[in-house]
Amino acid sequence: MYDYLVAGSGLFGAVFAHEAKAHGKSVLVVEKRPNVGGNIYTEEIEGINVHKYGAHIFHTNSRKIWNFVNQFAEFNRFTNSPIANYKGELYSLPFNMYTFNKMWGVITPEEALTTIEEQRKEISHEPQNLEEQAISLVGRDVYERLIKGYTEKQWGRDCKDLPAFIIKRLPVRLTFDNNYFNALYQGIPIGGYTHLIENMLEGIEVKTNVDYLENKEEFDKLANKIVYTGSIDAYFNYELGYLEYRSVRFETEVLDTPNFQGNAAVNYTDRETPWTRIIEHKWFEFGKDKDGNDLPKTVISREYSSEWKPDDEPYYPINDQKNSLLFSKYQKLAEKETNTIFGGRLGNYKYYDMDQVIAEALSISEKEFSSAL
Ligand code: FAD
Ligand code: UDP
Repeated sequence: MYDYLVAGSGLFGAVFAHEAKAHGKSVLVVEKRPNVGGNIYTEEIEGINVHKYGAHIFHTNSRKIWNFVNQFAEFNRFTNSPIANYKGELYSLPFNMYTFNKMWGVITPEEALTTIEEQRKEISHEPQNLEEQAISLVGRDVYERLIKGYTEKQWGRDCKDLPAFIIKRLPVRLTFDNNYFNALYQGIPIGGYTHLIENMLEGIEVKTNVDYLENKEEFDKLANKIVYTGSIDAYFNYELGYLEYRSVRFETEVLDTPNFQGNAAVNYTDRETPWTRIIEHKWFEFGKDKDGNDLPKTVISREYSSEWKPDDEPYYPINDQKNSLLFSKYQKLAEKETNTIFGGRLGNYKYYDMDQVIAEALSISEKEFSSAL
């Protein structure tokens, strides 16, 4: 009999399992995919750590979380500065003086602000949706060229039907600063994320290719408590209906060229290009292999966003009103499952970043292990 059975070896499951072991608990982790790590899994191809389930850049403002992850891997100094390609014109992201110079030819922050303020006037009330939020942040020109097409491809919904908060993540700066994140700490684990997760799970029993829900009753008998990090609606066999998710298809190619696009991420912000972005993985580690040599080939992934259907991977929860309401009903059912902890992006149906998932896992662990004393 284990103290805990953890369903899912993503960041939430791995952090919880690590903490449980550190507190002297016995843990079994079951993972339905063939590999550990959930969405942060990386796989080496041609000497390049490929972010197989989407590009992941670690960033946080919390020294506690930064110190925590640095126990498991050394991080490099990668700073995310994606480029936007709008019909062949290139713009810097996030929205900053380089972007405004390219868009309007403005030179000073004052000129940029004057243009933004003129365009912002279009929205005189509290923004009610993503379109209004975007225009009131940066004006219509940036919205039309750099936000509308990308967002509608990514979410498969009109910007007028999306919640305003999604776009609040993006900084708007009147400085020449292409750093996408407002974070004190940022980087990529040298050698890839899989290695970080494997270090977290060291000494813990893990079974891959095992779906907890397929044999739930049997697994429940194996442990005193369950930590479930899969989709909350799947746990309840969709009895209240399906929550909506966005899924992503990655088309990955090895190219016999050392440099395809000169940057880790290029976003295609027009509506016509079918993919949302292209990731060139080698640039997360500056184009070098582990011995510091230049890599002769490159690996790219085109990302295509689609509506989730059963059997697809659910990547992004859609936190609009309709889904939030359904989620709160599932949450009520979850509260009755007193032996099960629901955690992570899918268990909580939240658009969490990695640092938020770690913070949540550490805080639940603290509660769990101090009350168990
Ligand atoms: P997951 O990583 O989804 O792990 C859940 C695991 O549970 C999976 O391995 C799954 O196979 C397994 N599982 C599910 N059901 C079962 C079952 N029934 N039985 C057994 N196993 C099961 N965050 C950042 O901070 N920076 C970024 O740049 C960033 N980029 C992202 C890009 C993309 C495309 C996506 C989708 C997310 C991105 N994120 C980013 C968010 C980040 O991926 C998450 O915050 C984090 O990985 C979530 O960890 P998790 O453990 O909650 O979930
Ligand atoms: N976004 C955009 N244009 C871009 C990049 C982002 O309009 O070139 C918007 C879009 O609405 C997206 C949101 O900002 O859903 C958050 O983007 P981010 O890149 O942070 O999301 P990720 O997919 O990496 O989680």
